[in-house]
Amino acid sequence: MVVFRSDPCGIFCILLTYGAVFYADYVVTVQIVMPTMSNSLWGAFNAVLFNVILTMMLASHLRAVLSDPGVVPLPKTNLDFSDLHSGSRSPIHQSGHDWTVCARCETYRPPRAHHCRICRRCIRRMDHHCPWINNCVGEYNQKYFLQFIIYVGIASVHAIVLVAVAWLGDCDGCQLDEHSKQTMLMHCIILVIESLLFGIFVVAIMVDQLTAIWTDETAVEQVQRRGPHRPLKSKMALLQEVFGRGSLAFWLLPCHSPPKEIEPHDDYTV
Ligand SMILES: [Zn+2]
Ligand SMILES: [Zn+2]
Repeated sequence: MVVFRSDPCGIFCILLTYGAVFYADYVVTVQIVMPTMSNSLWGAFNAVLFNVILTMMLASHLRAVLSDPGVVPLPKTNLDFSDLHSGSRSPIHQSGHDWTVCARCETYRPPRAHHCRICRRCIRRMDHHCPWINNCVGEYNQKYFLQFIIYVGIASVHAIVLVAVAWLGDCDGCQLDEHSKQTMLMHCIILVIESLLFGIFVVAIMVDQLTAIWTDETAVEQVQRRGPHRPLKSKMALLQEVFGRGSLAFWLLPCHSPPKEIEPHDDYTV
């Protein structure tokens, strides 16, 4: 199912992301590689490598944006939750399961699903609503979100390394006039600032995400937590729940994960 939210903040962030990516590509290929490394295989290698990283980044971003994060389906017929709205009854906890009722969606939702006010729907294992992908980060698209974060981090480091090599390395064949040098310097400074900002940002998000995965608690659940929480599964098993159970090589490819273990409540329909 393809979804796209009409949230202005999300759309602005997506346009900003694309603008930043294309600007970085312009600076790396036109301002750095072509004038300073054009007569070496090293230049071609770096230009191709940087574009491969950006392609993987945009592919995983697109999947994170357009994927269903795990929207809980609405019931086909309206259920009567009128007493829930009047506040006379607390949310239903079905015996033995943590299925709860969402008063806004007026439906039962599986364990760990939470309501997102921006998506206006309940999302399975919702972590947070991310404006950078204009979508919720939930059970079905967290893998793509993490891949996007990883590729942004790699591209940031690569861009900073290329700027350093261009300015510090010997450039025998370079015949740049003063004006070209100044233009290149200006673009390089902007690129380094952009890379540092995005790089630090994604490292912080990655630390948050890994903490959430390894403690088996989403960001929403960490806020709601009332007591100490200790996951019963290994760190590897928790990572596999996000990245899939296939080969490690598939973890960084923006393709569908191999099927997860079927949860006992998945066949529950209202
Ligand atoms: Zn809801
Ligand atoms: Zn959302």
